[in-house]
Amino acid sequence: MTQQDNDEGLDWHVRHKNLYGWCFSEEGRKAYIRQHKPIEEQETRLRLMKRIIGPIPPMLIRLCKEASIAGRALDAAQKTRLKARGGSWGVQETYDKTLQTWLAVQEKLRSVQEICQPEMERLHAVECPDCPWNGETIFPGSE
Ligand SMILES: [Zn+2]
Repeated sequence: MTQQDNDEGLDWHVRHKNLYGWCFSEEGRKAYIRQHKPIEEQETRLRLMKRIIGPIPPMLIRLCKEASIAGRALDAAQKTRLKARGGSWGVQETYDKTLQTWLAVQEKLRSVQEICQPEMERLHAVECPDCPWNGETIFPGSE
């Protein structure tokens, strides 16, 4: 499966400790890196973060997207809960439900990622040459 040619999709190294991840906006993420990441990390981050050409297992694409959406919903529910300071039952119930959804998606994602890992590592070797990724970070030896 190839990805749609829009700004949202599965990218290599969206974050420095991930081989790949869902990116809601490449331009948005790149702007964030330029504004907020240490200057000495920016070239590497910007060079390595790129849309995966594939083919990528469709199930993996679907779950990565679902997990990212669930993560955003959880962040929003957490912010609402903090604002309400635990004063409202509805807010807490929404947060609990959102958390349960996020946990369920994370579990599904983990099992699919495990199955797809060898395939993604093969693809990474082809699509991301001269990459310092060591299985944990794109900045080996810096922590
Ligand atoms: Zn890489």
